Amino acid sequence: MSAPILIAGGGVGGLALALSLQERGIPCELFEAAREVRELGVGINTLPHAIRELAALGLLPALDAVAIRTRELRYLDRFGNRIWTEPRGIYAGFDVPQFSIHRGRLHGVLWRAALERLGPQHLHTGKRLAGFAQDGRGVTARFEDGSTRRGRALIGADGIHSAVRRLLHPEDGGIRWNGIQMWRGAVDWPAFEGGDVMIVAGDMTEKLVLYPIAEGRSPGTRLTNWVVCAQIGDPARPPPRREDWSRPGRLEEVLPHVQRFRVPWLDVEAMVRATPEFWEYPMCDRDPLPWWTQGRVTLLGDAAHPMYPVGSNGASQAVLDARLLARLLAETTAPRALKAYEAERLPATREIVLANRRGGPERVVDVVSARAPEGFARIEDVIAPEELAAIAKGYAQMAGFAR
Ligand SMILES: Cc1cc2nc3c(=O)[nH]c(=O)nc-3n(C[C@H](O)[C@H](O)[C@H](O)COP(=O)(O)OP(=O)(O)OC[C@H]3O[C@@H](n4cnc5c(N)ncnc54)[C@H](O)[C@@H]3O)c2cc1C
Repeated sequence: MSAPILIAGGGVGGLALALSLQERGIPCELFEAAREVRELGVGINTLPHAIRELAALGLLPALDAVAIRTRELRYLDRFGNRIWTEPRGIYAGFDVPQFSIHRGRLHGVLWRAALERLGPQHLHTGKRLAGFAQDGRGVTARFEDGSTRRGRALIGADGIHSAVRRLLHPEDGGIRWNGIQMWRGAVDWPAFEGGDVMIVAGDMTEKLVLYPIAEGRSPGTRLTNWVVCAQIGDPARPPPRREDWSRPGRLEEVLPHVQRFRVPWLDVEAMVRATPEFWEYPMCDRDPLPWWTQGRVTLLGDAAHPMYPVGSNGASQAVLDARLLARLLAETTAPRALKAYEAERLPATREIVLANRRGGPERVVDVVSARAPEGFARIEDVIAPEELAAIAKGYAQMAGFAR
């Protein structure tokens, strides 16, 4: 049997790759730094082009059981006036849905499938990659506990603080923060607007993102994800606290921002106050890299292209990376496959990273608030529908999910 593909990182990207390799009969070993796999995070959106890939892995029913099929995306100003509405997923004519889902539950679906299909002996927890060495025939991964493992290739799917990326690019400029802090929580709340609508509301300095991610525990409720974003810092400086997906947020810090929003059918402040725990995370990414691949080693997902979470692309692009890489590894030698993978995915994801820095599709809210900071009666008096459509549809085209 050929040497396995080594995967560092068992997040969404690493697991999607492990499952895709298994589907093609390619042996792999996955190494996750965390000792224990827990369902962490809050809401995340996954777009139809990525769901199509997960459906090909037979995961659609498992995802459907824990997620919400997003029907509509609505952009509002901070007074609740409607700027733009578009159907999503199957409601926009795709053959598969867009899912709004708890990141931990998405991760759980992938982890359980990997356990079942690959077997626990190929999924190693408590294994933090610390280094690697490669020669003409293979690569040796070294872990923090001193153990090593030999493989055909090493894929760094180890997230925004990737060790593989640091080893490949010691000169990398580090995390970039745009000065925006995000507070993210989820709470059971009465369903609004049919229970499957995603809302982005706000202006240039503060935004509110709301979407249901699962059925609630009592009838008529949904587990509702909320994100409040506010410009609190200077983009030229590092974030006030290290970017950590599990850092608790403080009510007194988020409330002043929440109180600026008026959503007619939802008491946003009451919902935030009722959320038992929530988290803060600075909106950050890294500069796109000039290359990802060195011989038998490459990067995937957030390790390769961390991006601002606007436009619902983080998890989706990691899945697309994984599917292409597995297909290429089935077709050719590891070094060639890794190069071909980079040639296709690096330029595509680079564009998304840069577009997200400009605000992604959420720029419609910025444009309207700049022209009508105190709200409007008729959107047509503020901006032409063609201009709105150009922003929203242009982004979908670029990110590969336009119809
Ligand atoms: C705990 C957590 C919570 C998150 N919550 C949200 C959220 O609420 N909303 C959102 O939009 N995005 C969230 N994300 C990010 C989101 O999952 C990613 O942007 C996206 O899914 C791409 O996934 P990825 O697999 O590339 O990276 P990640 O999902 O970040 O996975 C990377 C994995 O690599 C592991 N790892 C790190 N270093 C090493 C190492 N040296 N060796 C081995 N393994 C290593 C990490 O423990 C992690 O499991 C979260 C990520 C994490 C890790």
